[in-house]
Amino acid sequence: MTHPRYTGNVLVVDDTPQNVQLLTRILRSEGHTIQTALSGMDAIDTAHEVIPDVVLLDIQMPEMDGYEVCEYFKANETLMHIPIIFISALTDTEGIIKALHAGGVDYVTKPFNIQEVVARVNSQMVVVEQRREIDRLHEQDIQHYHAIDDMKNEFIRMATHDLKNPLGIVMGYAEIFEHIQIQDERQRALMDQGLDAIQHAIDKMMNLVTDMLDLAKMGTNVGLQLETMELVPVVSRWVEAHRVRADEKEQWLNFTSDHEEFTVEMDPRSFERVVDNLVSNAIKYTPEGGRIDVSIEQGEDCAIIKVADNGYGIPTDSLGSIFNAFYRVPLEEHRQAEGTGLGLSIVKTIVEQHDGRIYVESQLGKGSTFFVILPIL
Ligand code: ADP
Repeated sequence: MTHPRYTGNVLVVDDTPQNVQLLTRILRSEGHTIQTALSGMDAIDTAHEVIPDVVLLDIQMPEMDGYEVCEYFKANETLMHIPIIFISALTDTEGIIKALHAGGVDYVTKPFNIQEVVARVNSQMVVVEQRREIDRLHEQDIQHYHAIDDMKNEFIRMATHDLKNPLGIVMGYAEIFEHIQIQDERQRALMDQGLDAIQHAIDKMMNLVTDMLDLAKMGTNVGLQLETMELVPVVSRWVEAHRVRADEKEQWLNFTSDHEEFTVEMDPRSFERVVDNLVSNAIKYTPEGGRIDVSIEQGEDCAIIKVADNGYGIPTDSLGSIFNAFYRVPLEEHRQAEGTGLGLSIVKTIVEQHDGRIYVESQLGKGSTFFVILPIL
């Protein structure tokens, strides 16, 4: 196997200047950058100034020999990972063994064989690069875990907050009802009002818990139960289920399709949530008397389901976030509508599980159109 060639910074340490010059010439012609040192102490100083990728280190040097330099490197936190290739006399077998014990990764012998020196340095450069790649991946993993941890904390914070309020309402009214004795109309009205508030709070908690469970279930990627089916009749039925709610807000709700037949593979139970969420959002985020148009159009090998409204719209800087779990547009009219911020992230997951795509176009104050692209058979 041929390795990709990596070049780097080589520190050549030898007390014989001719050897240093020769090694410098050989390695430079390979594209490496060279630093040199003529003694052990010099090597240590140079390595601290610019940390080398690989060290070529002579064993026999006066004052501080190669073993001592190697020991220093291995005990120093900054230098300990640098691979050291020892330079030894061909006949010094014992010295070579000692060098490898001292922490050397390889050796070259004098007199130098150019190809051998090049091959040994280059192979250590590959190791250096691989270690860097591992460090990079490790760093990415750490960041990934931090992101997941942040998301988990945010999830817990939001869920606790969103459950606490309605629970407080239920508990508050339960307390009142414990002591109330209905004697007159005023107390009956108070009771009814309380029961409404409890019902509302329970609905809210139910929605949040259902959404969270759905989202958690999707994370485990439970398989879809795919069926071959016609899109138009089912979507028409799912849209129709929202008529009452649209009528309450005196909104015009319309469904059209430019073709009768769009045969798709879908899990109808999970895909119903897509249409359901998009249409109920359109109703929720459109004022009274607005208009919601759902249509299915033919695309290239796909069906395009459009859910368009002329409601509040979404500000441009929110468009990138609305498919994120828990994100809600931070505008008063959006906040007034009940919501968990989980619907669209569930929708997106389901659409992608069906090999589809979803995106939105929107203008603040004018309305929004959600596009779901679904492959057809
Ligand atoms: P929610 O439970 O808050 O409705 P979603 O995930 O379904 O959560 O939607 C996220 C946010 O995107 C909503 O809070 C709302 O601000 C915005 N949004 C979704 N659909 C529409 C729409 N049709 N028009 C305007 N804003 C919308």
